[in-house]
Amino acid sequence: MPPIHLLDLSFQETAEAIAAFVVETDEGPVLVETGPHSTWPHLEGALHKLGYRPEDVRQVLLTHIHLDHAGAAWAFAKKGAVIHVHPVGAPHLAHPDKLLHSARRIYQDQMDTLWGQMEPIAESQLHTPADGEEIEIGGVVFRALYTPGHATHHIAWQVGADVFTGDVGGVRIPGGVVMPPCPPPDIHIEHWLESIARIKQAGAERLWLTHFGPVDEPVPHLDALAARLLDWANWMRPWFESGTPPEEVTPRFQQYVQEQLRSEGITDPQVLQRYELANPAWMSVWGLMRYWKKKLARG
Ligand SMILES: [Zn+2]
Repeated sequence: MPPIHLLDLSFQETAEAIAAFVVETDEGPVLVETGPHSTWPHLEGALHKLGYRPEDVRQVLLTHIHLDHAGAAWAFAKKGAVIHVHPVGAPHLAHPDKLLHSARRIYQDQMDTLWGQMEPIAESQLHTPADGEEIEIGGVVFRALYTPGHATHHIAWQVGADVFTGDVGGVRIPGGVVMPPCPPPDIHIEHWLESIARIKQAGAERLWLTHFGPVDEPVPHLDALAARLLDWANWMRPWFESGTPPEEVTPRFQQYVQEQLRSEGITDPQVLQRYELANPAWMSVWGLMRYWKKKLARG
């Protein structure tokens, strides 16, 4: 097993919300996820602690292009790194205007504090693996598992029995339980359930969640994630069908999730705050409503 290091990016000066990972290889550090550009100083500091500078990172693997996972990829590309990303995500990194425009519409004047800058990545530095493709770097094999459901362009990266699950493996803050992050626009429950099954079949012995950290018993974790995903989708359906505006649903959903956490014995306000940072309730309301809209339109 290659050494794997978890880097806490201290998103919004909060511990255990967003992670990146370093996998040591004979050709130096491989970075899995970059976090947003706003946490660059923390990322740089964490690399430094491992004895690396950002320019030592020659290979970056992204699970998907959401800003909390990939927002700093361009800064590594600028220093010469190759960025490995799903082919559907790659054009958005080469031409980030659309991605930034829709993010700015959502976050408005919070945009810079939350996510920071984003610049285009040269297409020659983007590598887009096929499903199942194995990338060998310095004696370590990284296998790309296409795992849609959270995002159509999601990849879980397998290294032996370790799998970096991005968001398809859910959010579990230490001291908490697993929850599915459901932002718009791609949420697809059926695909997500298939992806969960796929990660199980890959024989994972340990998952690494971007939000946040290692999971040593993947099967019960993934089973709980699948159950919660269905539960949330079914909870949302009548609100969508009755045409209730999302902003009215959000406080109800927030309360529902808080009750779920409380019923699991999770009351620590810090842990609850990390959940809200990594997986805001309003985003899941928008994402799940959009899922139902598309699904019911398909018939
Ligand atoms: Zn995320």
